[in-house]
Amino acid sequence: MKSRILLSPPHMSGVEQKYINEAFATNWIAPLGPNVNEFEEQLAAYVGTSGAVATSSGTAAIHLALELLGVGGGDTVFCSSLTFVASANPILYSGATPVFIDSEEETWNMSPFALALAMEDAQAKRRLPKAVIVVNLFGQSAKMDELLAICDRYEVPVIEDAAESLGSLYKGRKSGTFGRFGVFSFNGNKIITTSGGGMLVSNDQEALSRSRFLATQARDEAKHYQHSTVGYNYRMSNILAGVGRAQLEVLDDRVKARRSVFNRYVETLGDIKGIDFMPELENTYSNRWLTALILDPSYISMTPYELIDRLEEENIEARPVWKPLHLQPLFKGCAFYPHDQNEIVSEKLFARGICLPSGSSMTVEEQNRVINVLKSSLTR
Ligand SMILES: *Cc1c(COP(=O)(O)O)cnc(C)c1O
Repeated sequence: MKSRILLSPPHMSGVEQKYINEAFATNWIAPLGPNVNEFEEQLAAYVGTSGAVATSSGTAAIHLALELLGVGGGDTVFCSSLTFVASANPILYSGATPVFIDSEEETWNMSPFALALAMEDAQAKRRLPKAVIVVNLFGQSAKMDELLAICDRYEVPVIEDAAESLGSLYKGRKSGTFGRFGVFSFNGNKIITTSGGGMLVSNDQEALSRSRFLATQARDEAKHYQHSTVGYNYRMSNILAGVGRAQLEVLDDRVKARRSVFNRYVETLGDIKGIDFMPELENTYSNRWLTALILDPSYISMTPYELIDRLEEENIEARPVWKPLHLQPLFKGCAFYPHDQNEIVSEKLFARGICLPSGSSMTVEEQNRVINVLKSSLTR
């Protein structure tokens, strides 16, 4: 059996152990501690926000952002449809109702056109959303200027789900810093990892300090244990933050490596008729977390599922593009605003899309194995 090629495996720098050892040497085996403080400061400095709060997951950070914005029962929250379920699950935790917004073709992310329609509708019904969760898919930033202009007009705050776009840029500014809150994930498959973890970033220091309070069981200032609001246990462990510190030091290298993986796929497969790689919007710089492409059925008879099975036979892991959330049984009955009535963009991307192995540690030989399967499968 050939060795397994994974979609997006962890890629350690080697320095992680040093910070973990420090935590052990000082017995900071705790949620919180010096590694957490350092990791937060360095991440905030890297993306350019005034602060950051390390959490147990990206999902937890999204939930905290919703809580900080006062989202609760009876509220609605708009969210990109083409994304991982973790973008929207916290809306349900808060007791609110999601409304899903379609993608547009140039970024595969939230369509400003569909968002504007949804806002007009909500305004007419006197039921504006409490927040809009904008996702940056596979590293590509959404059309932030257009989306923010719409949200500003209706005075609705934005949460930027940048779980997949750490290290990416939009018009020279770091992804994740455009909304009232930004969220990153350090899950095992992300561009850098702490094995599990997340980060909430913002320029609103008051909100960040409230998030620290909520994430540590919301304990009132009193000598005894007193609580007057619901809290969570959402902070990051000091051991895992040690992994994060070391990973952050090599983030820019990881971005470069993933981009060269992407470029190599384009150079070797770009000529095949019917293959369209995920675009990169002008004035943006994607970390290319995953190389994604769509197969045009008018040129290629093989479906993404058949191609994924074919790759699996060679012990290569590939995945479909996220199944849009408006199609998920979990969100049955939730409202959805398409980009175009005649062709729902997120459904088209889902039906035709595939994500290829994109790890920053993938060797040229390994990538050649993937490329050869695609060449032989798609050019017949
Ligand atoms: C990974 C991911 C999350 C959730 O992050 P976790 O750290 O796994 O909770 C949220 N949104 C998107 C788009 C993701 O890809």
